[in-house]
Amino acid sequence: MYLHVDMDAFFAAIEERENRHLCGKPVVISGPLTPRSVVSTANYEARKYGIHSAMPTLRAKQICPHAIFLPPRLGFYHHITTQLNEIFLRYTPLVEFLSADEAFLDVGKTAHLFGGPLAVAHSIQQTIENELNLPASVGGAPVKYVAKIASDWDKPKGLVLVKQEDLLDFLSPLPLKKIWGVGPKTVLRLKRLGLNTVLDIRQRSLTFLTKHLGQLGNHLWNMAHGIDGRSVADPNEFSRERKQISAERTFEKSLTSTQAVTSIIRQLAERLTYRLRKKSATIRQVTLKLRFNDFRTITRNKTLKEPTDHCQVIDLVAQQLLQSYFSKKPFQPVRLIGLGVQDLSSDRLRQMSLFGEHDFAKQSKVEKTKESIRNLYGPTSISSGYIKGPKAGMS
Ligand SMILES: [Mg+2]
Repeated sequence: MYLHVDMDAFFAAIEERENRHLCGKPVVISGPLTPRSVVSTANYEARKYGIHSAMPTLRAKQICPHAIFLPPRLGFYHHITTQLNEIFLRYTPLVEFLSADEAFLDVGKTAHLFGGPLAVAHSIQQTIENELNLPASVGGAPVKYVAKIASDWDKPKGLVLVKQEDLLDFLSPLPLKKIWGVGPKTVLRLKRLGLNTVLDIRQRSLTFLTKHLGQLGNHLWNMAHGIDGRSVADPNEFSRERKQISAERTFEKSLTSTQAVTSIIRQLAERLTYRLRKKSATIRQVTLKLRFNDFRTITRNKTLKEPTDHCQVIDLVAQQLLQSYFSKKPFQPVRLIGLGVQDLSSDRLRQMSLFGEHDFAKQSKVEKTKESIRNLYGPTSISSGYIKGPKAGMS
């Protein structure tokens, strides 16, 4: 059984808790009243006016001039996320945070200790309320993505559990936008095929779906049948075995060009490579994390064909992830960039398939020189500038 715990209007609820005079008034957490700024969180009172997250702050001010606008206090909110994590860990070691205010908990092996799935879900919600004085919604289901739908079902302070035997009935009437990975454009595409609800998907054959939709068809078929192979990553195992290394940078002023972003990625790739080399390790996976002005955070990752410990490969893959993300949408200012490499192993066998041997040997010399400089003067003593070229492929 998976639980999805989602805090209700998290940032706004924290501010209300800290300043009781805010209660009952429309509260908007956002950047300053400038054209670039967007709403981060609106409390339920503000939502009555139609204000929602990611809405331009000026627009929110226009439709509800008497709303109280507050700047986000990220450090403080982060502290509360840590407290949330401590609560979750009392119920299961398997906790996976999706963002500051929502997490999956795998209670499959521990729920019986607390009286079963419903009792454990209720207890978590109550503990958050009693100890943190904050509202949370909890959803539960035998598959992850359904738990997430369930937590959203009855907000705020919702508690919805979907049992295995009710799974398909629960899913059937849902509009397809509720399905993991289905955005507004996909909804239109599915509509043209006469697919509007989960039941519509289930009534088509897998052959029909893959013929018209390719991989997406396969994904939808699985989702519609309640099949979701993902589990909750064990955070302890992860850190114990040091299977990943990551580095990130937050910017006081958001980066407003792809050039700026690519050059930071390059620097992060160098930092990671330095740490990898110290461990004599190679990696198989690269993850890029971007946080935008509205605090929306996305991560994209790619698994490599061959393990590597080479800066240009890590950099190249990260740049490709960046490029493919922004190829679908206009550039948005970036306030945080994170780069991670996963699947560490001490496997030194490297077969380069991304670069020709020639290129690779040449670059290796440069890398070696840089590495010795770093060894002498520290990890940040030398780094590359951004070089525009076909490999990075950015424009
Ligand atoms: Mg939330």
